[in-house]
Amino acid sequence: MTEETLFSKIINGEIPADIVYEDEYCIAIKDIAPKAPVHLLVIPRKIIPRIIDAEADDQALLGHLMLAAGKVAEQAGIADAFRLIVNNGAGAGQTVFHLHIHILGGKGFSESSLGF
Ligand code: 5GP
Repeated sequence: MTEETLFSKIINGEIPADIVYEDEYCIAIKDIAPKAPVHLLVIPRKIIPRIIDAEADDQALLGHLMLAAGKVAEQAGIADAFRLIVNNGAGAGQTVFHLHIHILGGKGFSESSLGF
């Protein structure tokens, strides 16, 4: 069995979180340490440690996560300007090894910068 993660504990209700969306395949929560006025995380119920660990069988799930991210951004009122980020590996800043998409928005972006 895949080891539990911080996010699977949130999904199971063992650790509290502000859940803003959930469906059969994923949940979305407010990030505990927001890096932008709106900072949400879309997390699959299935534990995939990093995006690089996703397999061909996960194709539909990955598409579902992107569609869910759009819905969640819309629901949060930032449909016109938001950024999706997936950190892969500690070297890229990944700290929780359970795939998640960051949704960042609620303030202006500089066109060329990937920073926030
Ligand atoms: P990563 O650095 O792995 O891409 O992103 C992990 C994110 O999870 C970070 O932005 C961090 O603030 C958030 N986070 C860490 N622990 C918790 C927690 O217990 N609850 C919530 N809601 N977010 C968390």
